[in-house]
Amino acid sequence: MDTIIIGSGPAGYTAAIYAARADLNPVIYTGLEPGGQLTTTTEVDNFPGYPKGIDGPTMMNELKEQAERFGTKVEIDFISKVDFSKDKGGMHKLYTQNGDEIKSKTVIISTGASAKYLGLPSEQRLIGGGVSACAVCDGFFYKNQDVAIVGGGDTAIEEATYLAKICNNVTMLVRKDHFRASKAMQNRLSNYDNIKVLFNHEVMEVMGENVVDGLKIKSNLTNDVSELKITGLFLAIGHSPNTDIFKGIVDMDDSGYILTDKTSTKTNIPGVFAAGDVQDKDYRQAVTAAGTGCMAALDAERYLQEI
Ligand code: NDP
Repeated sequence: MDTIIIGSGPAGYTAAIYAARADLNPVIYTGLEPGGQLTTTTEVDNFPGYPKGIDGPTMMNELKEQAERFGTKVEIDFISKVDFSKDKGGMHKLYTQNGDEIKSKTVIISTGASAKYLGLPSEQRLIGGGVSACAVCDGFFYKNQDVAIVGGGDTAIEEATYLAKICNNVTMLVRKDHFRASKAMQNRLSNYDNIKVLFNHEVMEVMGENVVDGLKIKSNLTNDVSELKITGLFLAIGHSPNTDIFKGIVDMDDSGYILTDKTSTKTNIPGVFAAGDVQDKDYRQAVTAAGTGCMAALDAERYLQEI
């Protein structure tokens, strides 16, 4: 096999479109969440080419169809182990969850990152019904409404200020008595009088039957429980790159994001490329993921021409 793509978000499918059109006969392993993070989003309004917006699952389905149109094989399966030491024929080895071995000259890693959630049952039940982990994706739906955001890092402040421009009031719930965010980021908050920060507060329950209508929150100083009337809850408590199976094999930063060459998608292993959120903790947008997916396919094609 010439090219295997692991992961089926915008990066993976874009890589597949380009690789298939270059006659690399790619096979894409979708992973456990075919379509990736966008399948948990309602409407995508910021992907160029959809003037009326498109819902996340439909967009991912269209990307899949586009990849298949040029001959991509889509396997609904999960790669659970890799061996990038290359056999005598110069092939990398990958193993599915059933232990089947697949060999490929090039591998594109596009396994993405997963937003962290609090893990409360009420929160999980209301994902897509007012609970979101992406203010840039979903903030618009809460125009002129009251929302809350959990987290005290740079992302939480960035997203709070983004929401403050759209929403009526934004309440930040920070579990410690201080921010983790940089001072520069914290200074931005003073430009918004509709952002209120509640330090030492944690979410106990997300209220609402089918859509969020409030939060039960607790002060971890006094144990006082109170209710906050909001219609949108945003989580900004970090992301985890899905890189467990590559640990100790592919070079990563301290947070587990795969390190790529500055101007390409090359990893430290010849023939292995990384695209999308798995190697990008700064931008994390569908369009930037798609862009690096395209780069990875072109890098794989060039590599195959050179070996
Ligand atoms: P961080 O890990 O930096 O911050 C996560 C925040 O969420 C912390 O305040 C943490 O609290 C809180 N948190 C974690 N788990 C829970 C929980 N279960 N309940 C309540 N709160 C919780 O993640 P970010 O996404 O903010 O940032 C990731 C990286 O990206 C950082 O390096 C950041 O600097 C960078 N970044 C930079 C930006 C910029 O410069 N423009 C913009 C966005 C991100 P605690 O402190 O108590 O652990």
